[in-house]
Amino acid sequence: MDFASLATEYQKTFDAAPQRVFFSPGRINLIGEYTDFNGGHVFPAAISLGTFGAFTKRSDRTVRMYSANLPEAGVITFTLDDLKFDKAAGWTNYFKGMLYELAKQGKGIDQGFDLFVHGNLPDGSGLSSSASVEMLMGEILLDAYQMDISRVELVKVGQQVENDYFGLNTGIMDQFAIGMGKKDQAILLDTNTLKYQYAPVKMDGYVVVIMNTKKRRELTDSKYNERRSQCEEALRRLQTKLDIHTLGDLDGDQFDQNSYLINDDVLIKRARHAVLENQRTLKAFDALQANDLETFGKLINASHVSLHYDFAVTGKELDTLAETAWAQPGVLGARMTGAGFGGCGIAIVKETNVDAFERAVGQVYEEKIGHPAEFYIAHLDDGPRELTK
Ligand code: ADP
Ligand code: MG
Repeated sequence: MDFASLATEYQKTFDAAPQRVFFSPGRINLIGEYTDFNGGHVFPAAISLGTFGAFTKRSDRTVRMYSANLPEAGVITFTLDDLKFDKAAGWTNYFKGMLYELAKQGKGIDQGFDLFVHGNLPDGSGLSSSASVEMLMGEILLDAYQMDISRVELVKVGQQVENDYFGLNTGIMDQFAIGMGKKDQAILLDTNTLKYQYAPVKMDGYVVVIMNTKKRRELTDSKYNERRSQCEEALRRLQTKLDIHTLGDLDGDQFDQNSYLINDDVLIKRARHAVLENQRTLKAFDALQANDLETFGKLINASHVSLHYDFAVTGKELDTLAETAWAQPGVLGARMTGAGFGGCGIAIVKETNVDAFERAVGQVYEEKIGHPAEFYIAHLDDGPRELTK
């Protein structure tokens, strides 16, 4: 979308022209899945799909918001004097939550705003639309309110919104990937120390195709918590003999030599995924640094296999997409991305093969699963920013 079409949509809702238009991306995780709560590395990137916000600052303390994605909710209004979580405020709680958590840190604002939101991330599909809208609010505060805060701090506030305001047990990857995104680069983030490094992603005639299962991630929260406690238990058992703080402290050999301490088939599998996925993520970073897309592709295939066999979070929809993708010409690799059980996968596909790829994978998927998948091309993109006229 461009400035002009957003301005037109804004006009219909608020009967005026917006002052400014902002954009905040979604994210994909290239590799490093379920490593974040194990002190490991993740390797995500911001993408060209995301959330637009047409904005005008007000002179009073009122906030009015409307989302083109949720027209049935209508215009939702609140004031800066009451920013507590309110179920009735629905989706605007993500914005309110940012304002609330920042106000708690003494970074309140005194003027409200009108905001028209329009996202082109598929809903609830694991591309982090929630972090996208949080970081959209962050960008508005940085830019239109000149708030004295760093991007990394805003990223942390976004995580607080999910953890404290919504009560969701999530890591920092999504907000970090979005808030710190850079065009044609992915971010290797050590979730233990928050040290990060950019890696150039030179696609050389290949593109990242996002494959959407169109299956909502229903059981994600309970399964996520279960996997998390399984990894914690495995770590506790390893710590009876080893001086380690997280599973990410081990390499593959060290894990093999000590996995007997865990002494439980399921827990060993869960921990093995966390350890080896972290190692694969570091190798994937090196591969991209060396412009070796082929090795990178093999690593993401191995990631999917591990998420299937050892971590058991893929499900038949994501398996069908990945396995069918592997069999297509011009594909360097494919895997699920995000929490699993549904949501999206990614594939690295030769640009000239994309149409045939989408047809072939789409057909097999629909035959096997009973409803069509959706495909989008994702370019790795900059973080939140203002759109110019
Ligand atoms: P995701 O994996 O996409 O982050 P979540 O369930 O965490 O899924 O967040 C999705 C929620 O974020 C939506 O239900 C809605 O409340 C909010 N949201 C995201 N994008 C928009 C949008 N464009 N307009 C309104 N609300 C949005
Ligand atoms: Mg989310």
